[in-house]
Amino acid sequence: MAGKKFSSQAAVLETGPESTGGRFPENLENALRPQRLEDFVGQAALKDNLAIYIEAAKKRKEALDHCLLYAPPGLGKTTLAHILAREMGVNIRVTSGPILTKLGDLAGILTTLEEGDILFIDEVHRLNHAIEEALYPVMEDFTFYIHTGGAQAGAIGSAQLKLSIPKFTLAAATTRAGLLTGPLRDRFGIIGHLNFYEVAEMGRIVMRSAGILQMAVEEGAARLIAARSRQTPRVANRILRRVRDYASVLNEGRVTPSLVDEALRRMEIDEAGLDPMDRRFLLSIIQSYDGGPVGIETLAATLQEESDTIADIYEPYLIQAGFLSRTSKGRIATDRAYEHFKLIRKPGKKAEPTLI
Ligand code: ADP
Repeated sequence: MAGKKFSSQAAVLETGPESTGGRFPENLENALRPQRLEDFVGQAALKDNLAIYIEAAKKRKEALDHCLLYAPPGLGKTTLAHILAREMGVNIRVTSGPILTKLGDLAGILTTLEEGDILFIDEVHRLNHAIEEALYPVMEDFTFYIHTGGAQAGAIGSAQLKLSIPKFTLAAATTRAGLLTGPLRDRFGIIGHLNFYEVAEMGRIVMRSAGILQMAVEEGAARLIAARSRQTPRVANRILRRVRDYASVLNEGRVTPSLVDEALRRMEIDEAGLDPMDRRFLLSIIQSYDGGPVGIETLAATLQEESDTIADIYEPYLIQAGFLSRTSKGRIATDRAYEHFKLIRKPGKKAEPTLI
């Protein structure tokens, strides 16, 4: 089944395992993606379970159960979905919640699937209601209902056609499992959560990526990148690529700890791995709202950022690293955040934090 081609469709981002394969394609992120489960660093418990589900499905010659992966951005959801396809020996088609807006597009994708194939829907929490409802019977009975002859189901002159879809696997990813409706979540047989990576795991990811990029990285330099990458592989890979630039221009290609230190300083990534936006976010809570609690919408307005961006991209790591806590009343900067900025929390309300 691997290697088949599909007609191009607006709602499809990518097809077939071969599209992620090339050695040095334009898209370096794809080049750095582990291809097999054994190359995927960390997430041991999830990997062990997936390996069993894959083997069992292959033994039964069945499609893998529908699989939901949830985690903050950059932790490996897309990578794992591609690995599932590779391990199962099937094709993967990739789309995402925000671009899969029309039932016709969904029908177009579903009708090109073959038995066992994987349909990967990224940002599944952003699917619109009509598509989500249409997916329920598809996921459950592999039946897609098409309404014809009337704009609405049940309208005069309308009819319902049933389309049988080959048994495929819906692999979906979300950064916000809490935003998924119950009925959709319940239809996934496998639910996997990816955690932020330990620094030692991040070190292995950095060394692995450095190998693919043919960079000679000293161990201390790799440790430094690993420690300042928000425990997130995508961030580590991004820093590594920039370090490659600095090394090539400033240090004859040699990646030493002091070169990495200099590169991180130039990128404005501090000792805790916080970037300028992280700092702006935390300092805004501390300086404008006395450390909180402050609502996300208020913060979003202050920072002129989308609240979704803040909740998806910035908050998870800041919470994990202990700089931020989320309460029912709003966001609060923790003591660790105050210590990081060398500021003292004033006991009285509305008092400005004082510089030590
Ligand atoms: P997500 O879909 O969760 O946003 P991706 O799967 O796109 O994240 O991963 C982002 C990048 O990080 C990819 O280039 C991939 O190579 C790398 N990556 C993610 N997880 C791992 C891992 N466990 N081991 C090695 N590299 C990883």
